[in-house]
Amino acid sequence: MEATLKPVKPTQRFEPNGKSSRIPGFYNLDLAQRLDKLDDWLKLTRNEKFMLKRETLTPELADVMIENAIGVFGIPLGIAVNLRLNEKDYLLPMAIEESSVVAAASNAARLIRENGTMTGQASEQIMISQIQIVDVADPDAAKQKILDNKERLLSVANHNDFTIVRLGGGARDIEVEILETLSGKMVIANLLVDCRDAMGANIVNTMAENLGPIIADLVEGQVICQIVSNLSDRRMVRVKFELENVDCLARAGYSGKDAADRLVKAYHFAEADPHRATTHNKGVMNGIDGVLIATGNDWRAVEAGVHAYASRDGRYKPVTKFYFNEAGKLCGEIEIPMAIGIVGGVTKIHPGVKILLKMMTVETASELAQVVAAAGLIQNFAAIWTLATEGIQKGHMTLHAKNVAVFAGALGELAIKVANQMAHEGRVRFDRAKELVKQFMIKEQCEKPQHQDSQECKDPELLKLLDENKKN
Ligand code: NAD
Repeated sequence: MEATLKPVKPTQRFEPNGKSSRIPGFYNLDLAQRLDKLDDWLKLTRNEKFMLKRETLTPELADVMIENAIGVFGIPLGIAVNLRLNEKDYLLPMAIEESSVVAAASNAARLIRENGTMTGQASEQIMISQIQIVDVADPDAAKQKILDNKERLLSVANHNDFTIVRLGGGARDIEVEILETLSGKMVIANLLVDCRDAMGANIVNTMAENLGPIIADLVEGQVICQIVSNLSDRRMVRVKFELENVDCLARAGYSGKDAADRLVKAYHFAEADPHRATTHNKGVMNGIDGVLIATGNDWRAVEAGVHAYASRDGRYKPVTKFYFNEAGKLCGEIEIPMAIGIVGGVTKIHPGVKILLKMMTVETASELAQVVAAAGLIQNFAAIWTLATEGIQKGHMTLHAKNVAVFAGALGELAIKVANQMAHEGRVRFDRAKELVKQFMIKEQCEKPQHQDSQECKDPELLKLLDENKKN
């Protein structure tokens, strides 16, 4: 059974609440103003605003979620704006520590909405759970026996989750394969389960663990593993964009047409070479993982599935492609397995996830899957476009410069001054940041009345220097 992809129509078309996700200058606002924009987008309660400002997860809740908890660990949360997919506007929450990802996604989303269209399709939400049976005397006869008892076995599986069955999901099929392995032949029963709006790992693991001993009895073998497969290739998503014209891609002295040609050739490099394809796909996952973390989804599961899918032909390949269609239009496309949920796991437990899912206005797991895949596609599009024109370091380092400045001891305004200076010089380095911190601090101290000490740097080396400077 292959996954069949179909368009998933969002129930709310166009902008939720009449709002557009096109928010010009969002990056120029301060933290409080950005929260106000979110409030405009989807009325936040006072409590939700407070949580986004301060903490979305308490240590007490963390203690319930994992073992040996000692606290919670922060990671920046940003909003990529401008995304329009299937004629609906979305704000994309991204929990990510790498600078430039949120900016790149916002920029690519703007280019696509202003110059083309982006559409998505998703398959049914089928998860695979595997039951491994060994020590079977006649594997072919065992396979037939399992298939002959399929309806009874599916009914047993469905007794484990009445909710999912009531919602129209549940165990759908069993496929059996005989594997030649290092310890001889094994019979593998793959249980296919429609998990509706849940990621489904726990649902299918429970079904498989209950079914395993029954199947082992039936074929007179021994059951070993009963576990979900993270190669969820029956749960696929595809997103595609098409640009009406490519003038918008003009950059770094290249015309739009030249930039588009170079972009397609950059993709062809990834298509032909696994070393390049790995970095290409890392760029895709930059967009995907941030949204998965922000929506409480198991990003390790999606990562594993995507990389396995990228190797399905025996060679690791890019999961996106860029090409000119018959009409000569530039298209970008992503096709990946996407096992994620809007219920189950921590989605209804983590207070931050609850707010961010509400902000995304997604109503089904398949709608979220398309939005997440779109995040991967636009992120990759932005990266390849930059790579093929001005190079990746210029923009990346401008943003990274702030991190380097903070690492060198600068805070607040000083960090911005140091970062801007390094970006201007094209020298984003720790040693240069240290020098600049000192230079700016000295300058500032010399310009201030004598009694005002700096609050911004506690570096003993610098304080000594300031002292010397004052003496001179
Ligand atoms: P879950 O255990 O919370 O189950 C979801 C529950 O939601 C089910 O009981 C279902 O009946 C109920 N439900 C209510 N409304 C539903 C709806 N509309 N659609 C579907 N179900 C609905 O969560 P899960 O999704 O089974 O498992 C996800 C968790 O499993 C994740 O936290 C993941 O990290 C973890 N996990 C992953 C792996 C793996 O990927 N290898 C292995 C084990 C566990």
